[in-house]
Amino acid sequence: MERLARGGASATFPAVSTKAALKSAYVAPLEDVGAADIGFVGGKNASLGEMISVLAKAGVPVPQGFAITVPAYRAFLKANGLEERIQAALGDMKHARVPVAETGLNIRRMIEAGKWPDDVAAAVREACAALKARAGGRADVAVRSSATAEDLPDASFAGQQDSFLNVSGDDAVLDAARKCFASLFTDRAISYRDQKGFDHTKVALSAGVQLMVRAANGGSGVMFSIDTETGFDRVVLINAVWGLGENVVRGLVDPDEYVVYKPLLDEEQLVPIIEKRLGAKAIKMIYARTSDESRTRNVPTSKVEQSSFVLSDAEILKLARWAKAIEVHYGRAMDMEWARDGETGELWIVQARPETVQSQRRRGLFKTYSLKEKGRKVLTGLAVGDAIVSGMVRIVRSTSEIESFPEGAILVAENTDPDWVPIMKRASAIVTDHGGRTSHAAIVSREMGLPAVVGTRTATHVLHDDQEITVSCGEGSDGFVYDGIANFEVKDIDLGSVPETRTKVMLNMANPAAALQWWQLPADGIGLARMEFIINNVIKVHPMALVRFDSLQDQKVREQIAELTRGYDDKSEYFVELLARGIAKIAASQHPRPVVVRMSDFKTNEYANLLGGRQFEPHEENPMLGFRGASRYYSPRYRDGFALECRAIKRVREKMGFTNVIVMIPFCRTPQEADRVLETMAQHGLERHTNGLEVYVMCELPSNVVLAEQFARRFDGFSIGSNDLTQLVLGVDRDSEVLAEHFDERHEAVTRTIRTVIDAAHTVGTRIALCGQAPSDYPEFAEFLVEAGIDAISVSPDSFLSVKRTVAEAEAKYKKKRA
Ligand code: PEP
Ligand code: MG
Repeated sequence: MERLARGGASATFPAVSTKAALKSAYVAPLEDVGAADIGFVGGKNASLGEMISVLAKAGVPVPQGFAITVPAYRAFLKANGLEERIQAALGDMKHARVPVAETGLNIRRMIEAGKWPDDVAAAVREACAALKARAGGRADVAVRSSATAEDLPDASFAGQQDSFLNVSGDDAVLDAARKCFASLFTDRAISYRDQKGFDHTKVALSAGVQLMVRAANGGSGVMFSIDTETGFDRVVLINAVWGLGENVVRGLVDPDEYVVYKPLLDEEQLVPIIEKRLGAKAIKMIYARTSDESRTRNVPTSKVEQSSFVLSDAEILKLARWAKAIEVHYGRAMDMEWARDGETGELWIVQARPETVQSQRRRGLFKTYSLKEKGRKVLTGLAVGDAIVSGMVRIVRSTSEIESFPEGAILVAENTDPDWVPIMKRASAIVTDHGGRTSHAAIVSREMGLPAVVGTRTATHVLHDDQEITVSCGEGSDGFVYDGIANFEVKDIDLGSVPETRTKVMLNMANPAAALQWWQLPADGIGLARMEFIINNVIKVHPMALVRFDSLQDQKVREQIAELTRGYDDKSEYFVELLARGIAKIAASQHPRPVVVRMSDFKTNEYANLLGGRQFEPHEENPMLGFRGASRYYSPRYRDGFALECRAIKRVREKMGFTNVIVMIPFCRTPQEADRVLETMAQHGLERHTNGLEVYVMCELPSNVVLAEQFARRFDGFSIGSNDLTQLVLGVDRDSEVLAEHFDERHEAVTRTIRTVIDAAHTVGTRIALCGQAPSDYPEFAEFLVEAGIDAISVSPDSFLSVKRTVAEAEAKYKKKRA
């Protein structure tokens, strides 16, 4: 079938129209119909056809199929004299008061008993044969109803008209299609049309016959070409479950979640998967083994299924590439469904529609929520949205409780479905036991702008009615529920008014889960990502306890680590993989701008608190002045742990492709120590200036200032750690409450030291930044740095805008002075 040329490509869906002359055909390949063909093949087939032709152009596979058209339906009715008989039955219903149920049943029976006209049957058989040939001999298909009355809002709703899965053979297809025709006269459909005054004979039905993706023994899920929570438009978010996909949307399962960074997908050899979260996937949907194969049921998954990812890295990348192609093709953010055939292992796209929530939000305006004081953390799940809400719990088990749901309460439920929307409208936040980011509860919450924590597993057990709680989605991709009413702050951020500055203003970032939240800030990159925070946030185990797992003495710790690292043959790999992904997520949020990742700088007392840490950390009286920073990296006590840190950096830069990552060495006491560290790094595969690797050093000890030229020769840049530098210049323990009033970065002793090292660095042509806390807290300190000629300032994200303004003002002031 030849297709007419499309209209100009628009941002929305271009309409395709088949030749008018062909609109009398009994069958039509799906790829030959489009949005303009609703009268010919019904709404569902028209949009499926549209998608198939669009995606085929983008090189994305969609299951093939054909439509048994409206002319085929009309011919069927005519050949069996059904038009008159249906009219008569409907007339009796109206005038002789025959009940709807009786009328519906009667009409459906008439249709089901009808015989296919030979020419229609022949056309269908031919189309089946052609489809089978194209599918390499496979014949199992899904047969779905596609009604023409799209102005009936629920005319094509699941359940309104029938669909048949797993249909095999021409006769079965004809049979299923006839049942689809009959389902145009379900009792519900008849009453609905009557109520709305639609003429029953004007509505027609087409059947769609499409190759099955045998996902029941494969997998399926949903994906978005944008981050659903932050709107970050450079990632693809993929959800995956075993079996059929229905459970994902219904929120009955906690799916796997993968996040892929789109800009690096073009390079074939890179694996830019920045997040892989294993979902519980406790159940899967399969076909019920009954005579009616269209029915499905849920069965428990095996332990192996629960503890394995549904998708391999190669499959994740393939889907992400398709998502990117689909987005490019439609010219907008998209929401897609995919499925994997359990027999062939092939992946398919089965649905693609525009994403409507994040892509409609106004860019450049956002609210930030920060918790000040909070109660005990009682639940953890996935955060939907970014708000924080406090309120009273109401546990709801069924929609019958809608009347009694108090306005503004926090809805707590196992999961939700479309019938729950009226309750959700009255809620101020939602917490569920099950479901991922693409579950019904998550989708509706997002649309309503309500914060939701989904997939907590135990909310309905842990919480009780009338309990006061705080639902927090303001801390990144993890969502939390705290006991009691918390104290939090809300700030409006308008990016429209951010001034440009010559001095770079960068971000200090610690938690990968929160990194994507700040992608809209016009920062010059990340000036400090403290690796020990990432270890604490996502890994929780001491690296040496993984390297020396077999020599661990504490049995309980061994068990805990064994549990955490389940699925990893090599325990070290657990550390490297999680660390690499954590760093990659932070690096992605500002890519391709520079992201300075500082190697670990735990003190011995802090490292000892990591799981398994006690056995490997010496007890020290003065950890601040002790075994920390550079001195650990080449010491036999930690060298093997440092090797893992280096492996993670290497993976992020070389395998994932984030070459914007710069390494920084903290607490480096002497140039000789610097040499040893650089040598050790090189032994671990991180050689300065190989593959463009730059290495910075923190300037946070007086020795760094005094010997600045010597350090400068060994590194590509400095970042002043004003927290430690102040501690060491003034001799004030930065952690001491007793001495707190003496700890002041603005003291002349400190500012002079800083001025000295800025000048020294510039004399030898080395870049110098500052990443301590002071400029985030004191505008006058930021001003001082500008006046002293610093190259970059790195601050906490929530103070970014105010620092940026201060810097702009300071630049104007000192330019005038200098002029
Ligand atoms: C500093 O010392 O100023 C610094 C940024 O590092 P940390 O606070 O991690 O010691
Ligand atoms: Mg420091």
